[in-house]
Order: sequence, then structure tokens, then C-alpha cells
Amino acid sequence: MPRKRITDKPDLSHKIKSGWEILQGSLPEVESYNRDYVRFLSQVKTEREAVEYFRDQAGEAGGLELVENRGKALAVCGRGAIPLKEGVRIVVAHIDSPRLDLKANPLYEDTDLAMLKTHYYGGIKKYQWLARALALHGVVVKEDGSPVKVLIGEDPDDPCFTIEDLLPHLAANAQYAKKLPDAFQAEKLNIILGSRPDLTAKDNKVKEYILSLLHEKYGIVEQDFVSADLEIVPAGPAREVGIDRSLIGGYGQDDRACSWAAFAAVRDAASKGYTSIALLMDKEEIGSEGNTGAKSMFIEEVLWELADRFGEELVPSRVLFKSRAISGDANGAFDPDYPEVHEKMNAARLGFGVCVTKFTGARGKVGSSEAHAEYMAYMRSLLNRSGIPWQTGELGKVDEGGGGTVAKFLAEYGMDIVDMGPALLSMHSPFELSSKVDTYSTYLAYRAFMEDRG
Ligand code: MN
Ligand code: MN
Repeated sequence: MPRKRITDKPDLSHKIKSGWEILQGSLPEVESYNRDYVRFLSQVKTEREAVEYFRDQAGEAGGLELVENRGKALAVCGRGAIPLKEGVRIVVAHIDSPRLDLKANPLYEDTDLAMLKTHYYGGIKKYQWLARALALHGVVVKEDGSPVKVLIGEDPDDPCFTIEDLLPHLAANAQYAKKLPDAFQAEKLNIILGSRPDLTAKDNKVKEYILSLLHEKYGIVEQDFVSADLEIVPAGPAREVGIDRSLIGGYGQDDRACSWAAFAAVRDAASKGYTSIALLMDKEEIGSEGNTGAKSMFIEEVLWELADRFGEELVPSRVLFKSRAISGDANGAFDPDYPEVHEKMNAARLGFGVCVTKFTGARGKVGSSEAHAEYMAYMRSLLNRSGIPWQTGELGKVDEGGGGTVAKFLAEYGMDIVDMGPALLSMHSPFELSSKVDTYSTYLAYRAFMEDRG
């Protein structure tokens, strides 16, 4: 009898394959998915703009149920054949991103420049916002309740804004000698709004001219800043990056990579068993607080609303206990310039597919909702069966830092939930980087989850 050849042995070791290898037969789909994604990223930079965009896209697609919360959070639902009371399939992602908000009294004049005071939102590295083109997005609500939309700095013909930085010649003491957090201070993140004086004004000539322009163009007065959501974001479109065009660079990919994937998955899911919900939330970057964040009871309201529309009787908390969910959020990819912050065996790599994160948190898993082994087994089986590139990833070395997602707030309802999304480089910067195969794998994973009847 011939001896069994060594190649007949089952492969016992766990090897991850490049997403480019697994998806080599579907590169046209990878490209067309990412073209839509880049268009979305370029156009949508705030939570309000995301809700509007998804509402329009859902309208075009047809057949989807929408439940909206104050124009800042949205549930996009695809009705399944199985009654709601058997549970639903949720992919929750967030549509807010780190940025600079305007203060209530932002406008002042200093040394012949009109400036705006800002208050940063979420985790930013302040120096990344200096000396670059910035845009103003948002809404001003006048005293009579009428909203005035503001969008300046995105059209190539628009003016843009900027925050100035100190010239290196004079930075020795004010910046170089200090530790990074002291060298760049929040109260110096002031937007340059203009410099031309109103020659007829007595004093504050530059500010007076700006006020007259704002009144002329938007019909607003200075007190209207009090009732406004005005956000400063990096100006300009998302771009392909690399001579091979393999990467996407742009602002807000945390978490628009996942919110776009979740929306597209609900839209495209075929043969739905369970009702699938893309739950697109606000305020994740500041702890999911408030009535539009994941700590609110919006998901219960969504179920009450769907029950009404579908003519079903249910108790939301019982439906949610039986439900399964994915927390769609971006992770940090292994950074070749800072290998010392990662543990290489458990860091996500750019281009190796959607990253499944069993737990988040800091130090001893503090603040994490850890997915159970049973749920990890379900997810691994689903991804393997569906031929989707995937990997696991922890955010950095143990005790190096950490982070959290909305997973724990939905887990409070008793549903199973695990974090899944693409890994990014330069996360939370004005120009985050993703791999095209990772954004596409994320979409494939969410869609397979929504189509699965298990
Ligand atoms: Mn995120
Ligand atoms: Mn984030």
C-alpha cells in the first residue's frame, strides 16, 4: 500500500488569505461598489447629510421601510418573510465623524481677521486640522423655526476656510519645546472667515462686513449662531490612493465605510428571511449619548413603527432579545510606521477583508461587550461558507490604548452582537485610508448576514 502523501493531510493551521486573492474573480464588482462608495463619501460629511442621502437612495431603490429620528439617525429596513416577533437582523453603524463644531458665540475680529471659535467633537489630533482647506456644513434654525442650510467650501468655485499654523521659524518655544497635547490647543483652533473691512463701519470693520454678507446670502443675524448645528470638516472629495488605485482616501470613513455597506446590504439583500435593519446612528464619537445616539431607545421605536406598518403585535424588548446584530465599525489597521503599538499576530491588515473583533474596550477588556464563542462560530461559518475575505483584529497591544463601539448598547437588549468592519490607516484623521477589497468584503459580510436564515 502506498504511503499517504503529506499533501493529503487536512490543513490544520489557520492562514489568512489576501482579499485580492479571494476576490480576484470579482474585481469589476469591487470597483463598481467602491465608485458608489467614493461618491457617497465625497458628498456626505455630516450625520444630517447622511440621513438625507440614504433617504434619497432608498427612495430610488424602492421597497424599503424608513424610520427617521430628527434628521440625524435613520433605520433602513427590508421586510423579511419571517414575522418580526421571531427576531430581526440588525447592522448598526454610525454616521457622525470627528470634526470641529462652531461655538454658540463663534464670531469675532482679531488683528484685522474675522474668526470663528470652534469646539472639537470626538477624538481628533489637533495639528491635523491646521493649514488645510476646510468646509462649513450644517444648518441654522432661525427664531421662527425656519431652517437655513449652509454648505460652503465643497464646490471648486466656492471659497473655503482654514485654521492657520505657526511658521517653523518661530515655533521653537510655542510648539517644538512642548509635549504634543500642549503644543496644539483647542482654543487656538479658530477658523479664518475673512479679512476685508466694511469701510463704512466704525469699528470691528471686518466682522461687520462678514455679518452683512451672512445677512445678504442667508438672511441670518449673529444671534442665529445660537440655534445652529454648524460643522467644520475637511474640504474636497474622497480619492483613489496609490498608483495601483487599490486604496480609498477620504474623511469620515469611520464610520461611513460601514454605514454605506449596511445601507447597500439591506438594499441588495435577496431572499430575506428575517427583516433586516441598517440602523444608522449619531453621536458614537462622543459616547453614543443623546436622543439620536445608540444609548437612546430609537431601536424600540423602530420596532413599534414596523409592527404598526406590518400589522403585527409585538413587544420590542422581546423581539430584540431574539435578534442578532453586527456592530459595523472601523478598526485600526497595522501601521508599518508604528509597529510598536500593535501585536502583529492579532492586528488587522489592510487588504485582508472584513475585520471581526470579538471584543473592544481598554486594558482588561473594560467597557467591552464581548461576543460569545457560539456567536463567533456562527459568524466564522457564515463568512467561510460565503467565501468572503475576513480576518480578526484587536485594536493595538493590550494596555496600549483602546476604544469602544455601540455594540454594548445594543447588547443590553440581550441580542447577540459582534463588531465587524474594515481596518483603516490614519483613522480619525482628515484623510483616512481603506482598502477597496476591505470595504467590499464588509458589504458582502453584512449582506450574507441579512440573507442568512440561521
Ligand atoms: Mn467608529
Ligand atoms: Mn471613531
